[in-house]
Formats: sequence, C-alpha cells, structure tokens
Amino acid sequence: MKVIIVGGVAGGASCAARLRRLDERAEILMVERGPYVSYANCGLPYHVGDVIERESSLLVADAETFRSQFAVDARTGCEAIAVSPEEKTVDLRDVGTGKVTTESYDKLVLSPGAPSVRPPIPGIDLPGIFQVRTVPDARAIREWIEKGSVFLSGMHRYSGFQTLRPTTRAVVVGGGFIGLETAENLVHRGFDVTVVEMLDQVLAPLDGEMARIVEGYVERHGIRLALGDGVAAFRQAANGSVDVETKSGKVYPADIVILSLGVRPDTTLARAVGLTIGERGGIRVDDQMRTSNPDIFAVGDAVEVKDFVTGEWALIALAGPANRQGRIAADVIAGRDSRFRGSQGTSIIGLFNAAAAWTGASEKTLNRIGDMDYEKIYLYPNSHAGYYPGARPIAMKVIFRKSDGRLLGAQALGEDNVDKRISALAMALQMGATVYDLEEAELCYAPQFGSAKDPVNFVGMVAADVLRGDMPISHWEAAKAGFVLDVREPFELAVESYPGAVNIPLGQLRGRLKELPREREIHVVCRSGQRAYAATRILLQNGFKASDVSGGMLSLAHNGLFDAQAEAT
Ligand SMILES: Cc1cc2nc3c(=O)[nH]c(=O)nc-3n(C[C@H](O)[C@H](O)[C@H](O)COP(=O)(O)OP(=O)(O)OC[C@H]3O[C@@H](n4cnc5c(N)ncnc54)[C@H](O)[C@@H]3O)c2cc1C
Repeated sequence: MKVIIVGGVAGGASCAARLRRLDERAEILMVERGPYVSYANCGLPYHVGDVIERESSLLVADAETFRSQFAVDARTGCEAIAVSPEEKTVDLRDVGTGKVTTESYDKLVLSPGAPSVRPPIPGIDLPGIFQVRTVPDARAIREWIEKGSVFLSGMHRYSGFQTLRPTTRAVVVGGGFIGLETAENLVHRGFDVTVVEMLDQVLAPLDGEMARIVEGYVERHGIRLALGDGVAAFRQAANGSVDVETKSGKVYPADIVILSLGVRPDTTLARAVGLTIGERGGIRVDDQMRTSNPDIFAVGDAVEVKDFVTGEWALIALAGPANRQGRIAADVIAGRDSRFRGSQGTSIIGLFNAAAAWTGASEKTLNRIGDMDYEKIYLYPNSHAGYYPGARPIAMKVIFRKSDGRLLGAQALGEDNVDKRISALAMALQMGATVYDLEEAELCYAPQFGSAKDPVNFVGMVAADVLRGDMPISHWEAAKAGFVLDVREPFELAVESYPGAVNIPLGQLRGRLKELPREREIHVVCRSGQRAYAATRILLQNGFKASDVSGGMLSLAHNGLFDAQAEAT
C-alpha cells in the first residue's frame, strides 16, 4: 500500500509516524511545501520574544529523522499541485527547481493546514508588516527587530545625544490567541504594544464578561487595546515606520506590525479534486477522517469538525485535534476502527503571569443556537489552600445543563494552575460528566497543590446545590432590577458597594430578619458568593424567597455594571 501525505507538520507528521508504527510495509511519502517538517509553530511567538532563543529548538523532527527512524520518504520544498482521483496520482513540484513529477497512491491524506487570513487592506505588503505562522516568518521578525535596534544604537553612537533608547512601537492586528501571545512577547522585547481588534473583545471564544478580565489584565501589563476598531489602511510614514489607520480614523504609528487576523482552511487541492466542502468552508470528513472520496482522508486545520457540545460543524484550529486526527486517519488506513469524537475547543493562552483557558460551549454559543436549557455559575476559588503561600484566585465561569446537570463548558483566568482545572473539566466534559460527578471527583490534594475541596469539586458542589434547589441563584442582570441584600461587613462597603443594596452583615442576619421583605425575591450578595450562600440558606429556611447572586461583587465587574451603577447614582 502506498500512502501520500500532503503537509508535514502537526496532522501530517503524526499521521506518517503512526502509520509506520502500525504498518511496517506501507510505502509512505510525506510532502511539505515549506523548508521544515514537524516544527513547533505553537512556539513561534516565544521565539519572537526570545524566550525560546534558538530556532533549532522549534524543529521537533527533521526530514532526515523521518527517513531514518520511520522509513518515511519525507520531502521538504515539495508541493502537491494537482491530484487525479481517477488515476490516483499526485503531481509534485520541486519548489527549488520547479520540476514536476507524478506519484501514484492507494490512499491520500491531506493535512495542508490553514493559512493566515490576509485581507486586501491598502499597504498590507509594506516592509515591517509580518505574520507569525512559520519558522521563516519568526526569523524575519527577529531580523527586523535586530536590524532596528542596531540601526538605533548606531545613530546614538553617531549623534552622541541620545543616551536613552527611543520607544519602539508595535501594532498587533487581531486579538486572538496568536495575536495576544505575540503582543506579550513584543512587550518583553521592550515594545510599546497596541492590539487593534475589530470585535469588542479579545479571545473570541470567551464570553464577553470573561474576556473583560483578560483585557484588564493585559492592559495592566502594558498592552494597549483598541477594541471594536478594524484596520482601514497601512501607510508608509516619512521616518520609515508604518502608520496603522483604523476605520474609526485613529492612527497608530508602528515600527513593526504583526498581522494576526485568524486562519482559513486550505482547501485548494480539495476543491480542485471536487471533494465536499462544508458550510464553514472546511473539508468535510466523517468521524474516520475520510473525505467524500473514500481513498482521500483529510485532517487538521483544513477540516470541519463536529462541535462536541453543540453537534454543529465547526472550524477549530488547534494542535491537539490535528494530531489526534492524523493518528486516527493512520489507524483507519491501517484497518483499525478509530473514530474522532469531535472537538470541544479546549484551549489555553499564557498571558504574562496568568493563563486564560476554556473548554466546551460558551454562553454566547448556546444563545446563538437557541439552546436555553443551561445555567451558569461564577466562582473564584483559590488555586490551592489559602493558608499555604502563593495561593491565587481563579476566576471561573461554568455552564451546565439545567435539566440533567451535564457539564457544557468552562472558562477560567488566573495566575496559578488554571490549566489543570480546565483540563480536568475538559476531560469530564468529554466523558459526558454531570456536575454531580464533579462533586464526587477525587483529585490530588496537598496544601501546595489544591484544596480538600478542589476548585473542580467546588464547581460541582455549587452547581449541584443550584440544581437541587438548595441554593437558588440569580445573576446581576436580574438582581439589578430587584431587592439586593449585601451581607458583607461595613468596612468592605467602603471599598466597593452596590447602590440601593440593604446591608446586613451575615453575623447579624438571624437577628434582623424582620427588616427584610417577605413578598419580594431577595438577591443576596457578598464578595464572591460564599457568605451569600450561607445567608440564602438562612433566609430560605425562614420562609423568605431568596437567591445567591452568583459570583457576588466580583462578577458585577465582569458584567460591566459599574457603568450602570454610575448612571444610577
Ligand atoms: C503561531 C502559532 C501558534 C500556535 N499556538 C498553538 C497553541 O498554543 N496551541 C494549539 O493547540 N494550537 C496552536 N496553534 C495551531 C496549531 O499549530 C495548528 O492547529 C496545527 O499546526 C494544525 O496542524 P495541520 O497539520 O492542520 O496544519 P499545519 O501544522 O499548519 O501544517 C500544514 C502544512 O502543510 C503544508 N502544505 C499546505 N499545502 C501543501 C501542498 N499543496 N503541498 C505540500 N505541503 C503543503 C504547509 O506548508 C504547512 O506546513 C498555533 C499556530 C500558530 C501559527
């Protein structure tokens, strides 16, 4: 059997290696248009930032390794330019010489990835404008930065005036995860960085109120955000820098511009062959990664996947799914019955000292598809036992089915161990776990690692309390229009308070119940929702209609209601 694999990075390389492990006799030809196979594009922003100093560290395995260890005919600088499904042949062009050869296949695997979106904005080809997608891209950025600083230090030596290094300015266009990672790395390299983003939030998969926390965090660490504004044009400035003009008429001068506008599935070959393309613009495959032609498979960023939670077709460009899909295609070609379960979009991004991570459906996705059978909770548990040094709060939003408690999605931001909580929740979500399962999850605990009630257990306990009716919750959207009882201590109110709220500290509540209305729902607030839970239980057991405002004052800021407060006062 002869298998040709187009694309030699995440999906392609994992397919080739897996296939060899399963079938020692298969003839495997892997072609890659670029100069490297199996490189770590996820590390590129950190190479730009010099965190990963050596380019060679990004090269996980080279073509020679594939040849010697896996007996894979790995060819770099080799582009697949045409496929004949009838003849079962692929035309290959040597990128260096232009020479075209034809190879036959029994099975063909397409893993061409998803190139960066590059809209026809005036001036987009000006020098100093880059994208971060390949090793040569990162090299070009590093060379540009080096060239700029050598030039400037030469100027200083020549003029003798300038003793301080002038500020160098970077504009990153796009506030997705590659854009923000690159922005952080440019801050580390001393740039004054502005991120211009057309949406009204960074990190589109997050719900807006969780993105607000990320935005505040990166701004405090030196990234300027220009949200809700798209780039209209790039213009060459007289001093050699680039002026980034936005649709709102603002101009951001930049010594370097990074384009990070998202990616689009590469369907060039698939369309030419007549393979089915889905409504989201990716190659349509079944759960065994087979395209509409049974001898052609497709994997990675180029394919549409089933969203694990919603069942909708989706484009999810992530390394984990690409690797798993490459492996599944190899399994199926080798005669095994492996199946892809769909993607839940589990992601994480490091931001200075923090991380934002998410898995599964967001609230806005559920609203978009009209699925209202969900409840959400906000919570702020410590990353590990509060008495052990270094504990940091984690801001979490968790979404679950109202009818049966099934976990639907989770989003978190924090400075310590966010990844393990979202990873645990991602695993639970894939296994179809409910919030009742999370209550019972037995997780690692010693004070430096977690708590006897880990944040993951805590999610389960809070959500299960809600579903069992032990802790009715409300959200600020409703509380704002209702009766708000604040059970914090008066000194806390001096820092932050909600206008119109009645304050009865938790310790005094039992003795002051007669001050509260019996005919209205009482929305109980504290800082994070924990004391409000105790107060809600007291009220419920005394015949009041009460609910705990999920996340308390901490979630108020997320909902952007501070502005509404200002209007109210
Ligand atoms: C800067 C950056 C950071 C990232 N960080 C993360 C991260 O932290 N976590 C995460 O999960 N994901 C991350 N990703 C996404 C992840 O890298 C991709 O999801 C993954 O690489 C997709 O694998 P793939 O095989 O589909 O495509 P790719 O890895 O892009 O490989 C496709 C290859 O196919 C080649 N090719 C295309 N057409 C042809 C042809 N006709 N002939 C020959 N060769 C061809 C291309 O040259 C390309 O090298 C990041 C991506 C980038 C660019």
